Amino acid sequence: MTDLPPPFDAAWFRFAFGFIIGAALGSFATMLAYRLPRRLSILFPRSHCPTCNATLGALDLVPILSWLAMRGRCRHCCAEISVRYLGIELATSFACAIASVVIGLAPALGLAYVAIVAVVAVIGAVIPS
Ligand SMILES: [Zn+2]
Repeated sequence: MTDLPPPFDAAWFRFAFGFIIGAALGSFATMLAYRLPRRLSILFPRSHCPTCNATLGALDLVPILSWLAMRGRCRHCCAEISVRYLGIELATSFACAIASVVIGLAPALGLAYVAIVAVVAVIGAVIPS
C-alpha cells in the first residue's frame, strides 16, 4: 500500500477511514442481529423503536453518537435501548479500523468488511439483550 499518495498511505488515515465505515456497517450489523433471528425483513419497515414503534429519524441513526447523545434511551418514549447496540457498533468500528490498517485500501478490504459484519451480526444475535 506504499504506492498510494498521502494521506491515503498513512496508518492514521486508514484507521479513521475504517472506523467511520465500520460505524456505518456496525449500524447495519445491529439491524441484522435484531431482525434475522426474528425472521423479520431487513428492508422494511424503516428503523424504529421496538417499544413505541416511532420511526427513527436521521439524528437517531448516527452510529455510536446517537446512543451516547440520548444516553441509551429512545428520543420519543425514553425506553431503554440496549447497550448491545453501542457494543456492536463499536466492535465493528474497531474491527474495520484494524482491518483497514493491516490490509490497506485494497479490494480485499471489502471482503474483510463483509466478513466482519457477518461475524459481528452473528455474535450480536446470540448475545442475550
Ligand atoms: Zn420509543
